[in-house]
Amino acid sequence: MISNKYKQLAQDAVDTEKCAKCKRPFDPADTRFDGQARSGEKPFCRGCVDICQGTEIADHWCPVDAWLTGSER
Ligand SMILES: [Zn+2]
Ligand SMILES: [Zn+2]
Repeated sequence: MISNKYKQLAQDAVDTEKCAKCKRPFDPADTRFDGQARSGEKPFCRGCVDICQGTEIADHWCPVDAWLTGSER
């Protein structure tokens, strides 16, 4: 089950141009792999997606995962 809370977070980011996880505004100029630019069409910055996908914590779960999983169903 994906919490509607996370979907709302993601929608808020789309509307406000802020990362739905760290709440910082996107910076299109910061295109480093862990920068503050938006990650593709995701409502998250590249840094948050990088941290999420690079984590080695087995039970890691965050708005990025919720969004990714929800969008693939
Ligand atoms: Zn972020
Ligand atoms: Zn995550």
